[in-house]
Amino acid sequence: RAKELGRNSYQFYCPEMNARTLERLQIEADLRHALERNELVLHYQPQIDVKSGAIVGMEALLRWEHPVLGVVSPLRFIALAEEMGLIIPIGAWVIRTACLQNMAWQKAGLGRLRIAVNLSARQFTGKDLLQSVGDALEESGLEARYLELELTESMVMGDVDNAITILRMLKQLGVHLAIDDFGTGYSSLSYLSRFPIDVLKIDQSFVRDIALDADGAAIVVSIISLAHSLRQKVIAEGVETAEQLAFLRAHGCDEVQGYFFSRPVGALEFEHLLAHAPCTTG
Ligand code: C2E
Ligand code: MG
Ligand code: MG
Ligand code: MG
Repeated sequence: RAKELGRNSYQFYCPEMNARTLERLQIEADLRHALERNELVLHYQPQIDVKSGAIVGMEALLRWEHPVLGVVSPLRFIALAEEMGLIIPIGAWVIRTACLQNMAWQKAGLGRLRIAVNLSARQFTGKDLLQSVGDALEESGLEARYLELELTESMVMGDVDNAITILRMLKQLGVHLAIDDFGTGYSSLSYLSRFPIDVLKIDQSFVRDIALDADGAAIVVSIISLAHSLRQKVIAEGVETAEQLAFLRAHGCDEVQGYFFSRPVGALEFEHLLAHAPCTTG
């Protein structure tokens, strides 16, 4: 009987799925310890002012240096960290590390740059956000205007009144606020004007389409014009070619970020980039 059952269940055994389930369980278990084991690191990608060509900011992008799997992309573990509730301590660590690193670079005379940090949905509505941002600024000594928080449309368009309350409190601290991946979510334009947002980041999918078709180009031009009419700055993400840059410059995009200039790099390499780039003040 047992043998028969065993044979039957063998039919349902799918080695591929099993391996994936195991890997997920392993990743979950390891993620719990990633912070205390110092396996999380930030990489930094420069943001370039289109007019001057100077590096004026950077985006901090999280990496997990797993002892066995190697470098794990945030696309693979952020959602998991959200589900597990780990995004709160991990997110606080990201904000704190970004502020400390930026202040260290400012003190070293490498320029006064803005650092952008991605927030996750649970972090945004969580009760600790204001506290972690305030603590990170105080501990690092970084002026609030050099910290930018990146949100997505879905995070602010759900419970609009609650979002406005949170955004206003963050603005009172003096930080900058940006909408990431703009154009990929559902934004109500009337709400957009009510949010105290400083920056729209054009999603890389539209930037990629600039050279491919007239519609892609039209969308980019519309977003730039929308942002400027709301007195917001525009950053284009995922700029990979000189053609894309030329188009963005011709249409008044303020800042650009992408492989054309640099991939996200570790702190040492970023320091090198800064040391050899045109200097900024302000
Ligand atoms: P994102 O915030 O939209 O970040 C931009 C992504 O595009 C990054 O991927 C970056 O490496 C990549 N990228 C930059 N330039 C180019 C380019 O020219 N071409 C292409 N093809 N890609 C480019 P990454 O680092 O894998 O991060 C993926 C996403 O993970 C981020 O998208 C963000 O949503 C999330 N993420 C990253 N770090 C954090 C974090 O600390 N906290 C949270 N909550 N999410 C994070
Ligand atoms: Mg981002
Ligand atoms: Mg983005
Ligand atoms: Mg994204």
